[in-house]
Amino acid sequence: MKSLCQFSLEHYREILEIASQNFIVTNFANHTTVPRHDKTLIILRHDLDSGMAPALEMATLEHALGIRATYFVQLHSDFYDAVSLAGSRDLRRLVELGHEIGLHYDPTYYEAMGWDFRTGIARDLELLSAVTGGEAISVSRHLPLLSHQKVDYPPQVRHDAYDPKFINGQFKYLSDSNGIFREGCFCQHLYNQRNYCFLAHPIWWVNAGHDWREKLQQQMLKDCEAVTARIQDKIEQYEKILAKRTDYDRAFQKQFIAR
Ligand SMILES: [Zn+2]
Ligand SMILES: [Zn+2]
Repeated sequence: MKSLCQFSLEHYREILEIASQNFIVTNFANHTTVPRHDKTLIILRHDLDSGMAPALEMATLEHALGIRATYFVQLHSDFYDAVSLAGSRDLRRLVELGHEIGLHYDPTYYEAMGWDFRTGIARDLELLSAVTGGEAISVSRHLPLLSHQKVDYPPQVRHDAYDPKFINGQFKYLSDSNGIFREGCFCQHLYNQRNYCFLAHPIWWVNAGHDWREKLQQQMLKDCEAVTARIQDKIEQYEKILAKRTDYDRAFQKQFIAR
């Protein structure tokens, strides 16, 4: 390893370069059909808890290395809107880069809305499929330790990232949740002959900062800048409209009232 073990895109690239020599690196959708040539597998997964922008940076890097991961996306997040016009374009960009889009669901949302679990998952998968133009068949639960709703999936779900086989059986599960490695950095596992499931949250690898707190603070600044720019655009748009108010009022009169 050239760079130190830290959350950075540079180190992530090194990890993927070694991983793709020693393993078949794939996603949930393809892991049962990918040609293996006697190699062990890494299923590469990303949960999007904080936004689309870090995911796009990570996805672009993976694409350049010929790697197709699964990006699990939330549809009811308070931090980003995956089905707004901008969010939908970002999702389609992830698809163009060859990645699988799965659902990162939050059972507490279904509970709060009074939807049963199966219905909630089925509705979200349908919307996600419509927006990406593909078929969403993989799911991962947000904050799996904090909710205990019974898992009862509709038939569309073919891969659950927390299925016991991905966690403790056929695959060894490694996660960077909360910006911390519990069993060493991914790079310390790249010479073992076993199947892995890696969960990497793009925000930790893409954003600058010494620890998870600084990385989240950087995301806060980026999000604030984006909101400020959007509202500034709206102000300018209103100013332009008001400058031509008489013309617009006349056109409105003509189109909708004076028939
Ligand atoms: Zn490392
Ligand atoms: Zn999550």
